[in-house]
Order: sequence, then structure tokens, then C-alpha cells
Amino acid sequence: MEYASGHAVAGLASVVCVRNIGKPSRSMRSLRILLVAAWALAAVGAGAEVAEVRSIELLGRPIDPGVRLQLDLVVSESFEGASIATPIIVSRGVKSGPSLCLTAGVHGDELIGVEVVRRVMETVDPAELSGVLIGVPIANPHGFRRSSRYLPDRRDLNRFFPGKARGSSASRIAHTLFDRVIRHCDVLVDFHTGSFYRRNIPQIRADLRNLEVEALARRFGAPVVVHSTGQLGTLRRAATDAGIPAITFEAGEPMRFDDNDIQDGVLGVRHMLASLEMAPGRARRGSPEIFLERHWIRVDDGGIFRATRSLGDPVAVGDVLGTVTDPFTNDRVEITSRFAGRIIGLALDQVVIPGFATFHIGVRSPVPSEDPGVSAPPAVPSVLDGELELEERPE
Ligand SMILES: [Zn+2]
Repeated sequence: MEYASGHAVAGLASVVCVRNIGKPSRSMRSLRILLVAAWALAAVGAGAEVAEVRSIELLGRPIDPGVRLQLDLVVSESFEGASIATPIIVSRGVKSGPSLCLTAGVHGDELIGVEVVRRVMETVDPAELSGVLIGVPIANPHGFRRSSRYLPDRRDLNRFFPGKARGSSASRIAHTLFDRVIRHCDVLVDFHTGSFYRRNIPQIRADLRNLEVEALARRFGAPVVVHSTGQLGTLRRAATDAGIPAITFEAGEPMRFDDNDIQDGVLGVRHMLASLEMAPGRARRGSPEIFLERHWIRVDDGGIFRATRSLGDPVAVGDVLGTVTDPFTNDRVEITSRFAGRIIGLALDQVVIPGFATFHIGVRSPVPSEDPGVSAPPAVPSVLDGELELEERPE
């Protein structure tokens, strides 16, 4: 009962916020804070009257306390007309608490998050859990089966959330997932990797102008946090716009299982579960390195690209990061950094053409506070809302 009461109010918050496209206004945030407070009061009041936690439903199935089960969500059909379903793993705690959703494989070739979600769902014990943990290891089964970032029609699923029931194939898949699963989440972490022969340092991407999102980013305990509003249509942006604070964990490269990156992801979820008081463990309250700005260094010449600096390296303005060599004339140009900061993303050595993005630099910024939930939102440089961000590579 206590959980059901809380979720009804949280659901109301979602309905209110979903009409407010873009960043919630101050009054909307105040309303949401009031609604969350009402959720807490309802939980306390109901807990005094009712000892048991009432059953909840997901995808039409009752989910009893202390249960872990796999449900199938039919998201699409194959070319031969067969149903395409994706597994939804649910762990329901014995005590009431929030719903934490973990999504991966929105881009079908990004495997690290698939394994992070699998390991977390395998190891979290519902008997020790408060609240509900919902894992969506493969959000884009079409792409996963073809080892592709995209859907069969070359659309990027992560540009179509929250989707439309009668839209394009991408929009329909997005709508099914968002409406039937994501709207049951109180908070969400979406897992990604670098794309197209690029590799990312483990990092959280989050809209740091939103206080709830900023607090969520800190709960993950990642050493690097990058401010990003998220493009329209991304799952992270759509969830946040619907009143569900959401962050993205980025690490590694497509089509690889890097155990260090996977461990970082699993550890982050465990920090988050402890911080949300959903599971035993130690919440990590470190001071992440926060980058309010990030920029790609693009090359001006075609040829053979070789990096001379590594992922994670600190860099100063003017530092040589790599070279591009003409394969016939042997002419070589140096790639220099126009920013001071850290290399948070890197193209693997390969052949390039002018305009190719090689080094992703997180530009240094001051750290506002170490305490989750109480820090003021950092001032965001106006350049983030301008053309430069539109030129950034997609997540
Ligand atoms: Zn991705």
C-alpha cells in the first residue's frame, strides 16, 4: 500500500511535467518537490496502517515483494512477421522504495551496458532490496541482432523518445518502451559507449541545470561528470522532460566487453542503490571532476591518424595530441589542443578526412559542492546552448 500510494503521486508528477516540454520551470520544480514530499508523507502514513507492501503491476503482470522475474515486451515485428520481444528483468524488494530503471542497448552495437545491466540484475538480491529495480538490457533488439547502432531503416532509436503509437518504426518502438516501462521509473540510468571506432573514458552525462538530475549524477559516484542537456529524442532527455530524473553512463567503445568499464558501471549502480537506500552498501560521496563544457578537436587534413596522447590524459592549450600523415607524400601535420582539460573521448587510430572528430576534450571547470542534493546548480556557459553543442557528436 505504501508503495502504491507513493507511486500514484509520483505518476501525477510525471503527468504534470510531461506537458512542460524542455526544462521544467522553477514553479514546476517546486510543484514536483511538493509532490515528492507528499509521496514521502503518504508512505509514512500508510506504513503505520498497513504492514504489507501491496503488489504492483508491470506489463500486465503482478510483481510480488521479494520476487525477481523476466517479462517479455513485444516492441516490434521482424520482416517475416514474427514478434520481436525484448526481456525486461524486474527485481521487487521486500520493502517499499523508489523504482530504479537501468536501460542499455538503445544502440544495438553498444555492449558494455548490456553486461552491466545483466550483472546487476543477476547479483541484486530482492530479499535485501527496497523498491523496484527494472533492467532493460537490450532496448533495441533489431539493432542488437544485426550488431548495428541503428534500426533496419537506418533510424537512430535514441532520437525518437518518447515516441508515437502510430509513428515511424523507431517512434513506435520508443513509444512502446517509454509508455509501458519507462513511465514506471522514478529514476533512470541509460548505458552507452563511444560510437564508430571511438572510445570514451567512463563518465556520467547529465543536465546539471536540473537539481534532481545533478543529485542523481553524484549518487553514481563516477570520477568524471559531463554537463549535457541531451538532444531532443534521447531517452535521457525524454525521461527527464517527463519528470523522471535520468543520466547516461558512457564508457568504452562499441562491440567490445571491456571488464574495467563494465566494473565501473556495476560499481556506479551499487553506489546509487546504496545512496537511494534501496540496497545495503556504501554510498560514494566523492568529488567528481565536472566538465561544464566539452569540445571535439577536428582535423583539417585527410590521411593516417595516430594519437600520441591517451584517453584520460590531462591536456593544456597547445599540447600536441596526435598526427595526420599523408600516405603518399609523407607530409605530416600535428593535431594540437585548443582547450585545457582532459581527454574524455578518443578516436581509435584510423584513416580520416577533414572535419573528422578525433579528441573529445572535457574543458576544466570549478567543482560546486561535494554534498548530493544541496549544491547550487553550476553556472552553464551560454555556448552550451548555442551552435557548438549542435556540432557535437551524438551520444
Ligand atoms: Zn549510444
